[in-house]
Amino acid sequence: MPRCVNCGNNEAFVSSSVPVASPTTGRYFSGLVANFSGEGNLINLENTNASWDQVQSAWQRPEYYFDRCYHCGSQRLIWP
Ligand SMILES: [Zn+2]
Repeated sequence: MPRCVNCGNNEAFVSSSVPVASPTTGRYFSGLVANFSGEGNLINLENTNASWDQVQSAWQRPEYYFDRCYHCGSQRLIWP
């Protein structure tokens, strides 16, 4: 499963390649958020600004999309 080196988060990550729909939604937020289970499976995508193609690709290859920690904003992530 992915894990943030900075804060240890292993459940929620965002994609910096998908811009946020509104600048008021938060500094580390993104138009596409991924939630992972404790076992490392991608269980849910919260899409507010991604295209259908981006969502499909993110499901198939999440390691290419989710590059930022949802909690602290760090891009120092470890993927298995
Ligand atoms: Zn973090």
